[in-house]
Amino acid sequence: MKIALAGNQNSGKTTLFNLLTGSNQKIGNWPGVTLEQKRGIIIGTDYELIDLPGIYSLSPYTAEEEVSRRFLLEEKPDLIINIVDSTSIERSLYLTTQLLELDIDVIIALNMTDILKKKGLVIDVERLEKELSTSIVAISALKKTGIKELIALIKSKEYRKNYHQLIFGPNLEKAIARVSPYLKGNHKRFIAVKLLERDPLFESPQIPSFEVLISELEKEFGTDIEEAVANQRYEYIVGIIKKAVIVHDVGVNSSEKLDKVFLNKWLALPIFVVIMFLVYYLAVGVIGSFTVDLVDGLFAALSDWTRSSLAKFNTSEWLISLIVDGIIAGVGAVLNFVPQLIILFFLIAILETTGYMSRIAFFLDRVFKRLGLSGKSLIPFIVGSGCSVPGVMATRTIEGDKERRMSIILTPFIPCSAKLPIMALFASYFFPNHSGLVSAFLYFLAIIVILISALIMKFFFKGNSGAYISELPNYKLPNFGYVFRDVKDRAISFIKRAGTIILLSSVTIWFLLSFSWRFEYGVPVDDSILASIGNLFSWVFYPMLGELSWGATVSAIQGLVAKEQVVSSMAIIAGFAGDVSEGTMIFSPSGPFSFFTSSNAFAFVVFNLFSAPCIATIGAMRQELRSTKQMMFAIIFQTGFAWVLGVAVYWIGNLIGVLL
Ligand code: GDP
Ligand code: MG
Repeated sequence: MKIALAGNQNSGKTTLFNLLTGSNQKIGNWPGVTLEQKRGIIIGTDYELIDLPGIYSLSPYTAEEEVSRRFLLEEKPDLIINIVDSTSIERSLYLTTQLLELDIDVIIALNMTDILKKKGLVIDVERLEKELSTSIVAISALKKTGIKELIALIKSKEYRKNYHQLIFGPNLEKAIARVSPYLKGNHKRFIAVKLLERDPLFESPQIPSFEVLISELEKEFGTDIEEAVANQRYEYIVGIIKKAVIVHDVGVNSSEKLDKVFLNKWLALPIFVVIMFLVYYLAVGVIGSFTVDLVDGLFAALSDWTRSSLAKFNTSEWLISLIVDGIIAGVGAVLNFVPQLIILFFLIAILETTGYMSRIAFFLDRVFKRLGLSGKSLIPFIVGSGCSVPGVMATRTIEGDKERRMSIILTPFIPCSAKLPIMALFASYFFPNHSGLVSAFLYFLAIIVILISALIMKFFFKGNSGAYISELPNYKLPNFGYVFRDVKDRAISFIKRAGTIILLSSVTIWFLLSFSWRFEYGVPVDDSILASIGNLFSWVFYPMLGELSWGATVSAIQGLVAKEQVVSSMAIIAGFAGDVSEGTMIFSPSGPFSFFTSSNAFAFVVFNLFSAPCIATIGAMRQELRSTKQMMFAIIFQTGFAWVLGVAVYWIGNLIGVLL
């Protein structure tokens, strides 16, 4: 017998897997991907257990989801053990409803039951079993309770058979019933739902007037079907939870005493602002700028050393230029910021793991709800100040569908760490005495942009809003194990970007800049391939720059690759690799960026901050929105907003200039 173990991340899958299999494990790779695969034999049986990757759904937008889904559909396991974290049951059951659509029996291992009481939760397991119509065993993988019962149930084969409950509203169920008869083989219900969702991975058989069916449903729901299906799943889950889960008040504890200060009606916001200010002051200010200089010096030395050593070996001029002016300059400009980011990630992880973040989110919930957001939107916004990609992914904790989608689209407006260099470059050159003030103003502007956008988007986005936040983790001493792992993961992924995406685009820029269309090396920059590409689009930026500049155009376009690349690109184009923080060389009167004045500089920065985010973020948005249409909407909305704002800033700046 072949058994698959499926569940969310951090639901205790690995702990249970190890318990069930003892030491009978084999670790390999999933065919075709680099994800780790664990297989083992359940103790006292000859059943094979396969640990699927941690997933939240079976919509294959991530490698994990795709692998899990392929395994379930193609390898035909005889049984699924679905491990569910009983302390966040609503989120976990989303996957459960999808698993139950397959033609495979499901046993739910309801995990973490040891801490239910502390969380003030009581779960009526029998009732839950009846509502979901599948077998449930309450366990604690950590305390090793319920494991024997679980194994006994598997061996007895007396678990409930999966008979596909109808969980959706009548219209959707009718549509599923229309589609199913045209399908062959197993998993008809699952595939029918996927076809209705227009899942690209399934090829649709000839179903008469299928398109009509879909467009009728969409008209009815006022959303695309994928969203309607997700909404109805949640409605079903919420209904079940109301019947089977009781939430108790856990009484006064030390957390509530701390809240008297941190969540005091008058003090909460000022304290929050001071804390965030300190975080930025430490990370970007004091320690940060010191470390940036350090790393910058390191790269300057590396670049000199490389140039002279390569010259010793008679390396050709173009290769030296590629390595020093292209690779070291481009990658170095980005790696400069690693120490700052490590400090920033460290401080934010501490705020998260102590529980402070969740509680301030609770405090802001009521205000944010009025904007169509959730208090939990705060977390993606704050994480997003490091990098929008994890920021966008942090929206997963937001329950309300509408609030989650809006947060996904608004998070990239927060100036992420990659936008810091852009702000620093322009502010320190054009506003040398007020660069701190200008940066602070830009953050403030970001908040205003988010508020205005939220008010606009509120009318475009349908879907349910989440309930008010009621579940609050207690304050805890920071868990440094978690903090270090978190900081390490984020830092490594940032460095990886520098080694891959930034490296690649720096080389590309160097190449396009060094060669003409006739592939002659060392032509004047104005004859380079890059210049001609920039010239093609430079009219777009004319209204905010007052100048047709190919250099500024291609630099801004490269913000799509990575926002750091705007500065790297300007540095490479200005023919100067090294300390760009002063900006003196980039804007030198004989250089390609001499036309910048304070008003178009400000406008250009504003455009780059608020336009479509980098490609990695766009990917994350697509994944979390689960809709290409909405992702396109987001990009157009962001870029349009940024363009209008940039143009407005330019003209207001000019006006002020005339008046003064
Ligand atoms: P996975 O990501 O699903 O593989 O989850 P892990 O097995 O790595 O568990 C995540 C965390 O939850 C670990 O810190 C475990 O010690 C903890 N954990 C797992 N099962 C239980 C449980 O039944 N009760 C409690 N309190 N913690 C658990
Ligand atoms: Mg694991």
